[in-house]
Amino acid sequence: MGRPARSPDESRAKLKPVPATETCEDCGTALIHADEGSRCPACFDEHLYSLDAGFLDSYRKFGCRSRLVVAEACLRALVLESPDHRKVLAMTIFEQYVQAMNDLAGLFTAFLNRHQAPILKSFMEFRLDHKNAVTFFDAVRGVSDSEL
Ligand SMILES: [Zn+2]
Repeated sequence: MGRPARSPDESRAKLKPVPATETCEDCGTALIHADEGSRCPACFDEHLYSLDAGFLDSYRKFGCRSRLVVAEACLRALVLESPDHRKVLAMTIFEQYVQAMNDLAGLFTAFLNRHQAPILKSFMEFRLDHKNAVTFFDAVRGVSDSEL
């Protein structure tokens, strides 16, 4: 009695390793783009929702301070730098202000949208362009102090 005969397809499958992530690791749904991750889009969103609390905690500790830390370091450096370098430092301070504004509007928008998409996802995708800026200021004007 010899080894069982294999069809050519089975032999090929033996030679070529099957990718480890052909199905979603959470729900088992077949993935359309197996090389883009190990979860289907729905489970990936669920995964992001599960990260939101940790993300907000990290943002509270580090993220919301980072712009201020950089701006204050530049402000202190202004004293010692040459006039040309002071311009760079002043631009960097202003840049931090703009980025802090982007973060605030992004976080506000992400919270408003939290039932439609994970906060982390909305925040990372947010860009303070003209349309988003107008929407943000309208939304801020439209909510009461207690809602804010
Ligand atoms: Zn899934």
